[in-house]
Amino acid sequence: MPHSSAHFNAHNGDFEEPPPRCLQEGPDCEGEVEYHLNPDRDDFKTFPRCAYHQGKRLEQAEKNREYLSDVPPSWFDPEAAGERWSEDEY
Ligand SMILES: [Zn+2]
Repeated sequence: MPHSSAHFNAHNGDFEEPPPRCLQEGPDCEGEVEYHLNPDRDDFKTFPRCAYHQGKRLEQAEKNREYLSDVPPSWFDPEAAGERWSEDEY
C-alpha cells in the first residue's frame, strides 16, 4: 500500500490542491463542493460548501436580512401608533 495521503507529485514537486470540503460536511451533503461568496458578508471571503449547504446558507442570509429589517427602531412607541385607550367605553 503506497503512502499517498499527501498526493505528492514526484515529477514537479508540487502538492496537488486537495478538493475543498464542505464547511458543514455531514450526511446531508449533496452536490459539488465549491467556494461561494455569501451575500450577507461584505468582506468578500469565500467558503467551501456543497450545493445543499450553500442553499441553506443562502436561506439563512435571506432570513438574516429580514430579521435585521424587522427590528423596530428605538423610537417606536406602541401607544403613539394608534393604540390609545378607548374613549367610549364608559
Ligand atoms: Zn455540505
